[in-house]
Amino acid sequence: IIETEKDRQEDLRPRSPIVTVMGHVDHGKTKLLDAIRSADVASGEQGGITQHIGAYQVAVEEGTVTFLDTPGHEAFTLMRARGAQVTDIVVLVVAANDGVMPQTVEAIDHAKEAKVPIIVAINKVDLPEANIDRVKQQLSEHGLIVEDWGGEIPAVEVSALKREGIGDLLSTLLVQAEIMELKANFSRAAEGKIVESRIDPGRGTVATVLVENGTLKVGDSFVAGIYPGKIRAMFNDRGQKVDLAGPAMPVEIIGLDGVPDSGDPFQVTDGEKLARQVSSKRQELKRVEAARNVKK
Ligand code: GDP
Repeated sequence: IIETEKDRQEDLRPRSPIVTVMGHVDHGKTKLLDAIRSADVASGEQGGITQHIGAYQVAVEEGTVTFLDTPGHEAFTLMRARGAQVTDIVVLVVAANDGVMPQTVEAIDHAKEAKVPIIVAINKVDLPEANIDRVKQQLSEHGLIVEDWGGEIPAVEVSALKREGIGDLLSTLLVQAEIMELKANFSRAAEGKIVESRIDPGRGTVATVLVENGTLKVGDSFVAGIYPGKIRAMFNDRGQKVDLAGPAMPVEIIGLDGVPDSGDPFQVTDGEKLARQVSSKRQELKRVEAARNVKK
């Protein structure tokens, strides 16, 4: 319903990659996300308490990477089912002691179907029973040939527990991002996706928005799914108040008139009136659709 302006080539600048971590249960996805987060060079200096808002950004010397921190392919498939493909790169975690398991294969299939490039993190290499060659062998049986076997899939050995290999993994992600030439227009009105939303006792409806294009500002009017709103305040993944959020930066927003779903589109509108018009149109469409489904 909302016309989106076309980006001019000269307005596009490189942006951070958006990454989802997938893999079999217990292979270390959560631990890896924790280890990556603690590798952030900025958090030490600026302080702020780690907030779990559904996504976070980590800055290293070579650049910045954004991670969706709901591990597993549920979040990935849910977002995709709503047409919200925000992931640029999948990190496939495979425990070196366990090897490729059923959910590893499912994750490979999801990534392939979505045409999202895979980087393998061979985890738990600290364990004596770790068998890295066996993992590479099993991956090749599923069509993933790692680079040192003559293929194109980068594979990094890590120990999420000992926090080893994390820097390597981040550099590999940034190299992949460079190859992909990910770009966004930082100067237009923001659009993105709702990562998650909830009702907070003290603050009302709080939602995490991942901006995909443009820059979001306090005071912006917007539509999130079927609901309108106006940004009253924004917070980053460390709980600090911010005034701006550019492409690939996740922020919590306050000022929603409803609770949108994960994966819902988020768009800044030209004024409050348009936001209300678009949202009532969408609510009407939703009612019509619901009525039609009841008839069936
Ligand atoms: P998830 O289900 O994929 O999110 O897996 P978790 O991150 O919850 O990890 C599952 C278990 O494996 C936990 O007991 C972790 O402490 C352990 N684990 C994760 N990474 C490593 C690792 O690098 N080495 C070892 N030895 N254990 C690990």
